[in-house]
Amino acid sequence: MGCALGYRLSQRGSSVIIIEKKFCGAEGSGRNSSGVRAQTRDPKELAFAIYSETLWESLSEELGFDVEYRRVGNLCLIVTEERLHEREHRVVREQAAGLPVRWLSIDEIKDMIPNVDVDADIYGKRILGGTFCSSDGTADPLRSTFAFAQAAKRNGVKIYTETEVIGFEISNNRITCVKTNRGDFSGEVVVNAAGAWAGEIGKMAGTNVPIKPHLCQVGITQKLPPNTLSPYMSIKPYGFWNQTAHGNLLVTDVNAPLDQFPRHDVGYDVIEFLCHCTAKMFSKINVGQLSLIRTYSGWNEASPDGCCMIGFARSPENFFVNAGYSGHGFCLGPASGIACADLILNGSTSVPVQELSYSRFDII
Ligand SMILES: Cc1cc2nc3c(=O)[nH]c(=O)nc-3n(C[C@H](O)[C@H](O)[C@H](O)COP(=O)(O)OP(=O)(O)OC[C@H]3O[C@@H](n4cnc5c(N)ncnc54)[C@H](O)[C@@H]3O)c2cc1C
Repeated sequence: MGCALGYRLSQRGSSVIIIEKKFCGAEGSGRNSSGVRAQTRDPKELAFAIYSETLWESLSEELGFDVEYRRVGNLCLIVTEERLHEREHRVVREQAAGLPVRWLSIDEIKDMIPNVDVDADIYGKRILGGTFCSSDGTADPLRSTFAFAQAAKRNGVKIYTETEVIGFEISNNRITCVKTNRGDFSGEVVVNAAGAWAGEIGKMAGTNVPIKPHLCQVGITQKLPPNTLSPYMSIKPYGFWNQTAHGNLLVTDVNAPLDQFPRHDVGYDVIEFLCHCTAKMFSKINVGQLSLIRTYSGWNEASPDGCCMIGFARSPENFFVNAGYSGHGFCLGPASGIACADLILNGSTSVPVQELSYSRFDII
């Protein structure tokens, strides 16, 4: 969010600095499971996601770096009656919004991905059906964040890495100084784009930014032949599967709250559970025989209603919040940069974020 916004602001002639505790892409934006997805999004966020997907199509060209965007489609497999009902309601809205989503029977799922065992018993549940969205896809997280950061730098944005914000000086309801471990900075507007730590930054500014860190875990297998397991697949409540452009299979869990995983590392119980699900689902091609070559975890940023919050705080009045993407921020990043730049520079935007205003949580 910081790099995308820095890039968009600099395009419009603003002078921007980005202050980053580690390096750009060190956290969620570089560790996610690559999904550029509008299917299953909250109705408040749907139009925003659809708009962002249109930007992804030309992002490599615009930023001058290949972000490996591929429109592979997104299959939501359903294993519970509850999820079936939830999808029934959402699909109607998604289709009305123009998203190319359709229901798939078991036979249609078999035709689409012959390598999935649709009869598998996955922890006592079986696949009941699915919904498929052809306009969703994937991109490479680290490459994408790097591409925004480099494009921003070319426009003159200064990026201070290994620099941690530790506090603010506030005077007359405005932030006058951003204090870091490497000195002080100042600016007309201060944007809080600290992902899972946006709540901590909010506290430093005396503002309620209700975001809780949730840990999410990923395993990467050895390579399979390309397109063995396309499209992107998900099963709530188990996880997400995505075969990368290079052939590796990325397996991601549904995230869990901080108190359950108090460390920033991989819980092998979760990875083991994911491996069992994966081996059962793809038993036809013996995915269970592949080695996991890497595991990692990353922090998601859960907001109270599962959607992001964008806008100026009431106090301090030059504090702008762009956070709480609740596990959907990778897809939304390109559109978020435009929406936030519009709101900061013009006070309004045509990007559909009206229901995502920070003001819905800005209760002092
Ligand atoms: C495993 C995983 C899988 C995911 N899968 C998907 C997916 O498939 N599709 C999707 O759309 N989204 C996905 N997400 C969510 C997505 O990655 C995030 O919503 C998005 O990256 C958030 O971007 P951000 O810029 O707000 O936060 P981040 O990328 O976390 O950036 C915040 C930055 O702030 C820095 N920071 C924090 N505190 C300070 C401080 N005090 N001083 C200076 N800097 C600070 C951090 O170092 C960090 O680099 C996933 C997330 C995870 C973890």
